[in-house]
Amino acid sequence: MTFKALVVEKDDDGKTHAAVQDLTEDRLPEGEVTVAVEYSTVNYKDGLCIGPGGGLVRSYPHVPGIDFAGTVETSDDSRYAPGDKVVLTGWRVGEAHWGGYAQKARVKADWLVPLPEGLTTRQAMAVGTAGFTAMLAVMALEDHGLTPDKGEVLVTGAAGGVGSVATAILANLGYTVAAVTGRPETEGYLTDLGAARIVPREELAETVKRPLESESWAGCVDAVGGAMLARVLGQMKYGASVAAVGLAGGADLPAKVIPFLLRGVNLLGIDSVLQPYDNRLRAWQRISRDLPMDKLEEMAQPATLADLPGLGADILRGRVRGRVVVDVN
Ligand code: NDP
Repeated sequence: MTFKALVVEKDDDGKTHAAVQDLTEDRLPEGEVTVAVEYSTVNYKDGLCIGPGGGLVRSYPHVPGIDFAGTVETSDDSRYAPGDKVVLTGWRVGEAHWGGYAQKARVKADWLVPLPEGLTTRQAMAVGTAGFTAMLAVMALEDHGLTPDKGEVLVTGAAGGVGSVATAILANLGYTVAAVTGRPETEGYLTDLGAARIVPREELAETVKRPLESESWAGCVDAVGGAMLARVLGQMKYGASVAAVGLAGGADLPAKVIPFLLRGVNLLGIDSVLQPYDNRLRAWQRISRDLPMDKLEEMAQPATLADLPGLGADILRGRVRGRVVVDVN
């Protein structure tokens, strides 16, 4: 019995090549639970793992896919039984371990969560790691005192995966969302998701000249990092928080500490990979409650395993809008 998978191989020159192959089950890595994968998705990290690796992939041949949802086929762990619907995000699956771009995956039981009530496997992957992380960011902002009456909340990289889900969740919770995008053509899309206004990327592109600007934002979900994050820190309201999620615009932070010292601004780090189990469950419950499913549909586009090499390159160039749902079958 064979199954299909997107396999990345590295040649002697160090170049990687991704192609759909038929694999046998004995190629699967060790793990307690074998899952018949139904859907996976394309996150920024997947772009790296499908392509050059970005220092994330441990060994080749490699099956990428940092998240998946499907049905348990066999389980050596009492928490899961055949037929159970499950979701996986994080734990370096798709990087250090074979991931979800396959019709079968074998993983540790600790890495799985039961499919959240109210979501299908397809919807769970329309959310995916990007959306799950957007929810973690919103939860962190709330835990640090953000409420809708405090003022506008900025979302950077808004038309991307994290940004789209953050925009839809925040708007649904009653927040006034200002969406930063470098793609003016996504304005209608972002407004439909609930953005109250669009902030062109150029407005935040300049490097920090004055460490404090006028106090504009009550909170921020930042998927971009780099110079934009540095600039945003100086525009936060007194005591407000920025949830730092991503580095689509760069890993450096050319900032001054002044906003922390004079305005009590908080910079909250958001990690989805090693997130404890209880908080994972809490985040997925919040997603099924706070993310309107019609908005999720608006941001989701379908794909197959064969589309992945092209989509991986696209997401690294910031060309993917919203979320991609990969039907691996
Ligand atoms: P996407 O590519 O879907 O979204 C990123 C968005 O950032 C783009 O759509 C674009 O939005 C904007 N952008 C891209 N390049 C630049 C640039 N040079 N300057 C400013 N804006 C830019 O990726 P994801 O949403 O999947 O991930 C976003 C980030 O979050 C990535 O860095 C990813 O690694 C990180 N991440 C972190 C996680 C964690 O656990 N901390 C988990 C998941 C993701 P627009 O066109 O609207 O401007």
